[in-house]
Amino acid sequence: MRSATAAAAAAAVEPERLLGFARALIAARSENPGGTEDEAAAVAGDILAGLGADPTVVRGDAGRPSVVASLSADHGPSLAWNGHLDTVPAGALETWSDPPFAGQVVGDRLIGRGACDMKGPIASALAAAAAIRAAGIELGGSLVFHLAADEELAGLHGTQVLWERGLLDQDAAIVGEPTELAVGIAERGGAWLTATAHGRAAHGSQPQRGVNAITSMARFLLRLPEGLPDLEHPLVGAPTVNAALIAGGSAPNVVPDLCRVDIDRRIVPGETDPEAVLAPFRAIVRDLRREHPEVDIDLEVREWTDAAEAPADSRVADLASEAVAVETGSPAPRVGFTGITDARFYINQAKVPAVIWGPGSLTVAHTADEWVAVEDLITAARAYARLFVAFLGS
Ligand SMILES: [Zn+2]
Repeated sequence: MRSATAAAAAAAVEPERLLGFARALIAARSENPGGTEDEAAAVAGDILAGLGADPTVVRGDAGRPSVVASLSADHGPSLAWNGHLDTVPAGALETWSDPPFAGQVVGDRLIGRGACDMKGPIASALAAAAAIRAAGIELGGSLVFHLAADEELAGLHGTQVLWERGLLDQDAAIVGEPTELAVGIAERGGAWLTATAHGRAAHGSQPQRGVNAITSMARFLLRLPEGLPDLEHPLVGAPTVNAALIAGGSAPNVVPDLCRVDIDRRIVPGETDPEAVLAPFRAIVRDLRREHPEVDIDLEVREWTDAAEAPADSRVADLASEAVAVETGSPAPRVGFTGITDARFYINQAKVPAVIWGPGSLTVAHTADEWVAVEDLITAARAYARLFVAFLGS
């Protein structure tokens, strides 16, 4: 890690080149939902081709593009660097102080949709690969880029497709989501529940003749936090619950006979049974019915995403922490990631040790005026360059 070769790789990171990669990726809109990653995939493919790789585009049934490219040796150890090409939508443009797709640098910040989540981190990784090449270093193994589609809506058309095609077969993986360069080794999963309240329609002037499904749902929603188990994971904390989306009623003068709410229940490593997650919410409904017998609410798990936890002492985790120590003076802590990432495909499905490790902060991801500090992108590129050399040899 402190070897002359690793230092030479870090020293060869070119900030202007890194920013050029980031700006080009941000300008290639890839809002999900609402668009595709084709333009961003083309930009990433061009950059990788310029680094001597032979990128291929992998598409699943939905046709969404993920870019796979291997740099250097096809013998020796292998390491995947995964980043997603899609972003969440920019939202209302007037909520942005600077345009979301221009990649402007304002002060010491790069601004734009994807600046930290995660076109900026992708640019850092590409700049690290560029630096290794510019320094004339021949890696002793293969560095494989998985630039995936569709992460923001669960990755089923992106990294999952790579898994299904047998492409997640490296010795270790880095998923470069923004962690402020802390080393993420665990992440929460999610259970998307649907609650459906049934009522009885009536004329709006005679509500006593009906059963108001929205009122039933309101009684239930106020008690949602009671449905959380008393759990606390040392890295990712406690499970959470959030009523996320609501629909109900048909007209202003009708007692609503239906109300539906999508509930986002985040799960922690060790929670693996959908029925166990549902049971306490069902108990709340039963309890409500004692006082309000008209309450009639069904609950189901609409989508389930496993939590994941990787070994804390994997070689990639140790080297990541050490690379940060060399670049910043203090080793990166092991942390948990509150969101869901594509790391779970490596950890759970492919049994590949993985870390979530990238520049920028999750607190500004998905917001208007999303930004990342230019300095953090550069530090990440230098740390990535060190790790690539240390893990793969030269
Ligand atoms: Zn992300």
